[in-house]
Amino acid sequence: MPIILIATRNKDKVLEINHKLKGLGLEVKSFLDFPHIPEVIEDGKTIEENALKKARIGFFATGLTTLSDDTGIEVEALNGAPGLYSSRYAGDNASYADNRHKLLRELEGIPIEKRRAVFRTVVVIFDKDGFNQLEGRCEGLITEDERGTGGFGYDPIFLLPEYGMTFAEMPLKLKNRVSHRGRAVEKAIQIIREKLKIYPENRI
Ligand code: IMP
Repeated sequence: MPIILIATRNKDKVLEINHKLKGLGLEVKSFLDFPHIPEVIEDGKTIEENALKKARIGFFATGLTTLSDDTGIEVEALNGAPGLYSSRYAGDNASYADNRHKLLRELEGIPIEKRRAVFRTVVVIFDKDGFNQLEGRCEGLITEDERGTGGFGYDPIFLLPEYGMTFAEMPLKLKNRVSHRGRAVEKAIQIIREKLKIYPENRI
């Protein structure tokens, strides 16, 4: 079975990407399977640069076709913050909850219609022939209180008005259909098929 490596140790991302790739007839591995790969310092100036760095490190450490994901949430009323700094918004080693609480504090007093935000994911597929870069976006509103227990990160405060639900209130299947990450990985699937020579008859 062809193998793809997901360039992350984030179990939440692995779960979502795995779910999206299910049925392609692929064995999915992640950095969790390769403890010798060092922690990647995300010091790029853009999420594109960080995604490329992670994918390149994954490919050169293992020789496997590698998919990376770098994601940021951009809040209009905060001029695009936290953006590139989404994982460390409340400081180095901040928890998901710390970051959410900081974002809610920063938006205190701002009415719901002015709490527009966009999640942006850049996925890079890297192999011996070079790389491809795909983007997925998802627009929503930052709620005033947390809602739901699913998902991860900013999910409990990211509302999709057309569904009346935060990402944390959605089943994984629905989040994956409409989310930034789901859309970026969906675009990457055709490239993965070509690179790993997965044809429809290989589907399980
Ligand atoms: P990175 O791609 O690992 O740099 O992710 C940045 C941060 O964005 C993560 O630490 C999470 O807090 C947040 N994040 C990434 N993807 C999602 C998502 O799908 N939902 C909610 N938060 C997310």
